[in-house]
Amino acid sequence: MLHLIARNKYKLSLPMLLSSLTAISVLLTLVITITASYQSQRETLYDTTLQMNNSSAQKMSLTMESLFQSMRASLRTAADYLSEHSSLDDSGIIDHLEYSRKTSSYFNSLFWVDTNGVVKSISPPAIALKGTKLTTAASREALESRASYLSMPYVSTTGRLIILMSEPVYDKNQHYAGFIGGTIYLQEKNILNSIFGSNAIEDNGSYFYVTDPSGKLVFHPDQTRLGEDVSENKVVQSLMTGKTGESEVVNLKGRKYLAGYSTVPNTSWGIVMQSPVETVYQQLNSQIRSTIFYMSLPFLIIMLVAMYIARKLASPFAALTDYIGQAAGANETPPPVSPNHWNREAHVLSQTVVLAVEALRKQSEELSHAAHVDPLTGLMNRRTMEEVLSKWTAANVPFGLIVMDLDRFKCVNDTLGHQVGDEVLKCLAQVMLRSVRSNDICCRYGGEEFVVLLPRVSEEEAFRLAERIRKTMEKEPTPANRVITLSLGVAISPQHGSEPSTLFRVADEALYAAKESGRNRTMMAAPGTDHPTSVSKS
Ligand code: GH3
Ligand code: MG
Ligand code: MG
Repeated sequence: MLHLIARNKYKLSLPMLLSSLTAISVLLTLVITITASYQSQRETLYDTTLQMNNSSAQKMSLTMESLFQSMRASLRTAADYLSEHSSLDDSGIIDHLEYSRKTSSYFNSLFWVDTNGVVKSISPPAIALKGTKLTTAASREALESRASYLSMPYVSTTGRLIILMSEPVYDKNQHYAGFIGGTIYLQEKNILNSIFGSNAIEDNGSYFYVTDPSGKLVFHPDQTRLGEDVSENKVVQSLMTGKTGESEVVNLKGRKYLAGYSTVPNTSWGIVMQSPVETVYQQLNSQIRSTIFYMSLPFLIIMLVAMYIARKLASPFAALTDYIGQAAGANETPPPVSPNHWNREAHVLSQTVVLAVEALRKQSEELSHAAHVDPLTGLMNRRTMEEVLSKWTAANVPFGLIVMDLDRFKCVNDTLGHQVGDEVLKCLAQVMLRSVRSNDICCRYGGEEFVVLLPRVSEEEAFRLAERIRKTMEKEPTPANRVITLSLGVAISPQHGSEPSTLFRVADEALYAAKESGRNRTMMAAPGTDHPTSVSKS
């Protein structure tokens, strides 16, 4: 039994099991919900960011297109002015170029180049290029094209990184008279950075950049990269084929971005708006953190409530387990506090177990009673008497012993029948019980022989009690309708021996002596001798 209980210590209890299951399922639900919400929010954020960047790029491409149209119109106006006013002197032309440059702020410089590529007039005049022959490939192309022209970024005669936009000039006779060029100084304050903002990186790290048709950077928040060839970039490659769209891209520096891109129709410049993926994740993490924050309290409450219900549900089974455990240990166990339970199974099980345990206990009590008591007289049987004796011996309780035997009982049986004999035995049992002290123990030793165990008794008192039984029986009206007598032998410890077997033997010898000396008498065992008999008689 003990080893079973010890082994049970390592088994999970039902309340613990249910609580753990509840906790695990609530936590798993929380984890799954958060993971699912993380995934869907990630997709939403990705899509939203891509779409927003795409729409920004498209809007910016429209702005750029109308800007280019205005720039071109402004150059055209200046070219027309020159062809109409070819008679103007140099200062008149400069005045006009200055006026045109300052009013629109489209160009960092405006100049007129003749058919030989020599600068005829330039605004601002501070650029000392007047009379200089321009040798750059862009100015040569502009001159030879005799048409509207837009260059790639290149390093100008003055050493600046620039873009050249030009319109041809024809005189009144429709003779080609060179071109009027407007420049954008890419690395200085110019029309592009006034549109995009000089510090064009937004708080979330998003920014625009602009490429020319050959994939070179004409605008980028990092000025040191202007003019850099970024045609390796996947998005720039799409732009170079004239596409508009959105895409996740790793830039040439190895950072991941979500980019929206669009081309400016007439110039084939590409506009890209991109946001670093890590800022999307930062946004996502803060959203998930707040989701967890708002979800954890209700989930905690759900978990506590579920654990409480789980414990409540398990408690009758735990109580029943304790109850059955104690009942199996033969302890007096009160039934579980509330066999009435709201859960049907627990209720039925509790009721059934309580009834079954009660029935078992009753049965076992009956069996135990039958094992200890003589069924005819109700006195203790010999086995019980021996148990009491061994307990007293172990506890060193001094005691006395009366053994008794009915006189000529065979005769009663023979003449009146066995049944009357049984009634006489019952009558003697009652007499014994009436005559002894409350602590004394009356037993039926076997047949018509009886024993009384007398704890802590003196020789005199033991003798007196024996005599009381004998005399009472002598006077008792018996079922045999005649006087029934008995003979008794008395011994006490330690005077007549310390072992129960010795005491029994000397008491038996005293009884035998009582029979021998005429019956209906009590005899005391002789002290310190194996023989009877200091004799007392009726
Ligand atoms: P004495 O003891 O005086 O020497 O004579 P006795 O007739 O009593 O002799 P003995 O003790 O030898 O006889 C015992 C008789 O007790 C024998 C038996 O018939 C009877 N007896 C034993 N047990 C029972 C019992 O349970 N019921 C009945 N009715 N008689 C019993
Ligand atoms: Mg006998
Ligand atoms: Mg007898």
